[in-house]
Amino acid sequence: MNVPLLDLKAQYATIKAEVDAAIAEVFESQQFILGPKVEQCEEAIATYSGCSYCVGVSSGTDALLACLMAENIGVGDEVITTPYTFFATAGVIARLGATPIFVDIDPRTYNLDASHIPAKITDRTRAIIPVHLYGQMADMDPVMQIAEKHDLVVIEDAAQAIGAEYKGRRAGSIGHYGCLSFFPSKNLGAAGDGGMVVTNDSQRTEKLKCLRGHGANPKYHHKIVGGNFRLDALQAAIVSVKLPHLDGWTSARQRNAKRYDQLFSEAALPLELPVSGSGRHIFNQYVIRVSRRDELRSFLQKKGVGTEVYYPVPMHLQECFAYLGMGRGSFPESERAANETLALPIYPELTESQLDYVFNCVREFFADLAGELAPTGDANLSTSMD
Ligand SMILES: *Cc1c(COP(=O)(O)O)cnc(C)c1O
Repeated sequence: MNVPLLDLKAQYATIKAEVDAAIAEVFESQQFILGPKVEQCEEAIATYSGCSYCVGVSSGTDALLACLMAENIGVGDEVITTPYTFFATAGVIARLGATPIFVDIDPRTYNLDASHIPAKITDRTRAIIPVHLYGQMADMDPVMQIAEKHDLVVIEDAAQAIGAEYKGRRAGSIGHYGCLSFFPSKNLGAAGDGGMVVTNDSQRTEKLKCLRGHGANPKYHHKIVGGNFRLDALQAAIVSVKLPHLDGWTSARQRNAKRYDQLFSEAALPLELPVSGSGRHIFNQYVIRVSRRDELRSFLQKKGVGTEVYYPVPMHLQECFAYLGMGRGSFPESERAANETLALPIYPELTESQLDYVFNCVREFFADLAGELAPTGDANLSTSMD
């Protein structure tokens, strides 16, 4: 059996007529950049995210970048974030000449551990970027408390977390800004790159709208230096068609996660399951933790099961950040996670038999391993596998 990590063709098959019609409409209008399709999409996403305003931009990366630019963050400034994330989170800070300051993660949720933040605050600290990794929100209360105390801006990296909730509030609606991505592999994916910033601040909204069009207002009159961060009408039209399906897809992901949880815990395999707190986890990824990760990964690959490592190298160990001088051992939990985490297929269209197959393959891996470790089958097995 073949089980890919993600099967976008399966999703397209269920919404083909709607998507094709929306694309045709944009072509009929020949309005490709911003315009009514983008405005409709902005309104729908703002509502969905529990925010008053929304600014469509060219990607999740540019959403983060534009927020930092809107706050005039640059050379000499420090921005606190997690080293265990997709590169974009840290990349945008460095691109503006600011310094990423990392704090280690909570090993259970893989999200930044806010208790490490106070020790990292200096008079140069300007912002905090918590990342809601895998579809589960970071612990936002302490982040907001610290930010308020030190007058810092909070930019939620919600690229993996559209519709996730923390104490009843949606991803992106708690900080000063929330950044979403419509990269095709996210839970709400476009047919290319796209992103949005959600916010409850009208002034920040205006500044972002100005920034995404080279800082012009009115046209050809540039008050500030911006960029081309605009969202395409085609992407907006596709996102708008998909949005009404998102809650159904999320429920399917949650159902799959629950089934994995049940199967794995009943089988008592030596792996750690995703920990979900009380909030709404949208399972952009279902990530297990296992000590012989790379062996398990190649075993599954041979069995036709697609997996991925998010992420194999934490930010502080990236070559491009060597100048920060953060060597191995600086953030032990992030480093351990980078060596032990593995994402299994969780996408909504995954069938029960595919999911069971993935589970059985994982079980088989550990059965083989147990055979190798304790050929006589004695009591050593249980202790070595704990
Ligand atoms: C995907 C992602 C981004 C970047 O989004 P793009 O739309 O690909 O630019 C940023 N942060 C995180 C955590 C992501 O997963």
